Amino acid sequence: MSSKRTSEASDDFAEIRDGVRALCAKFPGEYWRALDRERAYPTEFVAALTEAGYLAALIPEEYGGSGLGIRAAAAILEEVQASGCNGAACHAQMYTMGTILRHGSDEQKATYLPDIAAGGLRLQAFGVTEPTSGTDTLSLRTTARREGDHYVINGQKIWTSRAEHSDLMLLLARTTPKEQAKKRTEGLSVFLVDMRLAQGTSISINPIRTMMNHATTQVFFDDLRVPAENLIGEEGQGFRYILSGMNAERILIAAECIGDAKWFINKASVYAKERSLFGRPIGQNQGVQFPIARAYAQMRAAELMVREAARLYEAGKDIGAEANMAKLLAADASWAAADMCVQTHGGFGFAEEYDVERKFRETRLYQVAPISTNMILSYLAEHVIGLPRSY
Ligand SMILES: Cc1cc2nc3c(=O)[nH]c(=O)nc-3n(C[C@H](O)[C@H](O)[C@H](O)COP(=O)(O)OP(=O)(O)OC[C@H]3O[C@@H](n4cnc5c(N)ncnc54)[C@H](O)[C@@H]3O)c2cc1C
Repeated sequence: MSSKRTSEASDDFAEIRDGVRALCAKFPGEYWRALDRERAYPTEFVAALTEAGYLAALIPEEYGGSGLGIRAAAAILEEVQASGCNGAACHAQMYTMGTILRHGSDEQKATYLPDIAAGGLRLQAFGVTEPTSGTDTLSLRTTARREGDHYVINGQKIWTSRAEHSDLMLLLARTTPKEQAKKRTEGLSVFLVDMRLAQGTSISINPIRTMMNHATTQVFFDDLRVPAENLIGEEGQGFRYILSGMNAERILIAAECIGDAKWFINKASVYAKERSLFGRPIGQNQGVQFPIARAYAQMRAAELMVREAARLYEAGKDIGAEANMAKLLAADASWAAADMCVQTHGGFGFAEEYDVERKFRETRLYQVAPISTNMILSYLAEHVIGLPRSY
């Protein structure tokens, strides 16, 4: 997309965007295709982003990060996706630390944040989802039982992405049985688990092969002993802490979807100008132009909501509704653009070497994770529109 309007929309954080684009140019389609075939982790790409400091954007300067706001972080991830790369390999390194920052003790912040900012310590595994409870987080079954100055953890997580490429995991576990908790939302606690010490003994990690290259896993805890000092905040309040980090995650993933949509629109428009049939470029046919134009309009509308959510987040407002709408609309825009891009390419949309089918598989995830579309709609229906509670 070389249009004037797109650059108008993207001219904030121009220096950061240029820097990310230059870095991403070193990781072209062939790099991602080769990894995709093997379902291998993009180690070099993640190292380059880490070294350039982009993954420490949200860590305050006093702990060695850049101290930037969420709008800048969103610009970084958007550019990664718009360049054809895949930030899912490491986006959680940016925001998982937010739980320590907001709810950890001064000692925990001083112990972990500087090493996370420097990239020597990876905190990019987030263990919430379980096979039996799924979206119903309050029904999770992993337990943490206090024994002296330790907690003993037993249970199982699923879809714990990047666990094999992370030193620490932020884990949500039940510390008070559901029926004994004072409130429905109490009784869960958050722990910072050091996986380096326990892998292969009390922690085992099984990779799950998925339709895209995502480094996601299943994690089993068998009498894992975690020092009590690794509890974040107050025991029993973990659900609240996890929820408070979700708005940031939704905005950042929405920004990635906007980046994906831009990639698809650009890819389709370049191809539509180049591919010539019946003596003229296919892009001269309105039947080919209109879906591209529609995807563009849908992306721009979603982008405005993402920007609005990020702006309100930085202003410290309660943005449950905006963060959810940003995620919903941006994921829909990227998926619509992906479908349009395959159609514009005809048969070549299915060929590996065009990267369209890879990005198509990658962006499909965001209809489901980190929160599925239905859950967003039910949040809006109940909490914004005032319809009766459905679950
Ligand atoms: C590749 C990948 C990576 C992931 N990474 C992580 C991670 O790092 N950490 C982590 O903790 N989790 C992770 N997840 C989990 C992800 O957040 C969940 O898959 C998602 O929240 C949906 O939960 P579920 O798969 O259990 O689906 P379920 O909860 O079983 O739901 C199945 C379907 O039913 C719908 N549904 C359920 N209840 C209702 C209802 N009451 N009303 C209407 N519709 C309903 C859902 O919307 C969904 O479409 C990842 C998932 C994937 C696929």
